[in-house]
Amino acid sequence: MKRLAFVDKNRCVSCGACMKVCPMGAISVWRGCYSVVDEQKCVGCGKCANICPAGCIEVKAREVIA
Ligand code: SF4
Ligand code: SF4
Repeated sequence: MKRLAFVDKNRCVSCGACMKVCPMGAISVWRGCYSVVDEQKCVGCGKCANICPAGCIEVKAREVIA
């Protein structure tokens, strides 16, 4: 099943680590505030979730397949 990274924006500390580690360039830090995942680019590899110091990224099954 296809997977997608979800960010809990309330816990994100805007460090940018997820953005740097993503092999697909799927993450941007929105206005320096919290990270946003591009659903079209994310392949659900989980690298962002593994590196996030705040533990606020979870990779889950996609509810909607684009
Ligand atoms: S799960 Fe992988 S592809 Fe998706 S945003 Fe995280 S690092 Fe990028
Ligand atoms: S690694 Fe985690 S805390 Fe840092 S910008 Fe990404 S989601 Fe936010």
